[in-house]
Amino acid sequence: MSMSKEDILKIIEKENVNFFRMQFCDINGFMKNVAVPKSQIEKALDGKMMFDGSSIDGFARIHESDMYLVPDYNTFCVLPWRNKAGVAAARIICDVYKSDGTPFPGCPRVNLKRVLAEARQMGYTMNVGTEAEFFLFKLDAEGKSTTQTDDNAGYFSLDPEDTGLNCRREIIETLEKMGFEIEASHHEVAEGQHEINFKYADALTCADNTLTFKWVVKSIAKQHGLHATFMPKPIFGVNGSGMHCNQSLFNLDGTNAFADESGPLKLSEVAYQYIAGLMKNAKSFCAVTNPLVNSYKRLVAGYEAPVYIAWSASNRSALLRIPASRGIGTRVEVRCPDPACNPYLAFAMMLNAGLDGIKNKLTPAPSTDIDIFAMDAAEKDEACIAALPSCLREAMDEMIANPISKETLGDHIFEKYVFNKNKEWDSYRIAVTDWEIKHYLDIY
Ligand code: ADP
Ligand code: GLU
Ligand code: MG
Ligand code: MG
Repeated sequence: MSMSKEDILKIIEKENVNFFRMQFCDINGFMKNVAVPKSQIEKALDGKMMFDGSSIDGFARIHESDMYLVPDYNTFCVLPWRNKAGVAAARIICDVYKSDGTPFPGCPRVNLKRVLAEARQMGYTMNVGTEAEFFLFKLDAEGKSTTQTDDNAGYFSLDPEDTGLNCRREIIETLEKMGFEIEASHHEVAEGQHEINFKYADALTCADNTLTFKWVVKSIAKQHGLHATFMPKPIFGVNGSGMHCNQSLFNLDGTNAFADESGPLKLSEVAYQYIAGLMKNAKSFCAVTNPLVNSYKRLVAGYEAPVYIAWSASNRSALLRIPASRGIGTRVEVRCPDPACNPYLAFAMMLNAGLDGIKNKLTPAPSTDIDIFAMDAAEKDEACIAALPSCLREAMDEMIANPISKETLGDHIFEKYVFNKNKEWDSYRIAVTDWEIKHYLDIY
């Protein structure tokens, strides 16, 4: 549904909205917001709210810091959990503009729009459905987060062991009030780990929804005295949290460009080329889809997360899985991303990786339909199966070496991203960890 300024003003009156949050996303994928009182809402809706961009990570330099927030009316919604004594709060997601009135290339949402516009020039729109897994952890006596889980349940468990169930239910109800279409939810494999699936949408809407989803999960968990985390691998020895990104290209007439009743596996040539492009560029998009030092502790054998660059229509150990659904639901599930990524940047990187395959008419290596973890090194070599980067440093080097990264992120974001991640890696590199103390202190 497309919203106008008048529609929004009507809802604001009817629901008694007194606090209006203008949200935008920084380079690290954190949702930021500027709250404005009721008297300023019209000015805010007209895109005339100014803020100081120099204090936002990865944004502007001090001397060019005045920036505007230009709201996307379709993202307006009232916040169901912020209604206090009949006074409501609402939010709207914004693009960041420079003081000269042009879109700011350092805004991840603006950048994704640019990349999507280029795809449209080629005749495609991108749809994405994310599956962001998360843990619910207990708080300690001082209210600080722990890594103690809230339950002892496992995959698809039912009450009464699943004590996170009440919290999950309220998350779902809240999301539904905000217009999300929830498709399913379940207890994940690890203790305290959950997943809630909502319906796919065009890539921009899905990136907005993914950020909103994480915010709602954290907010409702807090009300239940729990800490929700999207950290990729919070506990050693059990499954980490992924954010599988189901993606498809649609033609401009709304048909699925990956579907072809007469193609092998009922997939079109475009689908195969997209798969080939994702495989070719996988090593270099990981630094964005898996952005933390900790991300690479998830991408190891034995925990349902991918390690090898391969595709399959059946096998969940591969990086790319083609779910069984066909027709409009024909899609590629990319299994490496984790929920710490900035979805605007991650979708842009995966889209351009796939489009590279279409532009260059690439053919993917044959699918790998056996368990890759059961193959020995020689078998993997013979099948030309390479591994994903094993740490953030390797991922960054791959990203920097592939010119598609800078084209996709634009100069501004690329440079800030590389700067931030180099700093993060260096700070990790010099840290002395518990593992080192345990293994070295006594014997050396
Ligand atoms: P899994 O079996 O891995 O748990 P699901 O079957 O639950 O995955 O599907 C996950 C996501 O795929 C959902 O968000 C769903 O809306 C999305 N999806 C369905 N069709 C498409 C499509 N054509 N393009 C992109 N995503 C899609
Ligand atoms: N938690 C697993 C991961 O790290 C995914 C489990 C699943 O297939 O849903 O990717
Ligand atoms: Mg899952
Ligand atoms: Mg999945």
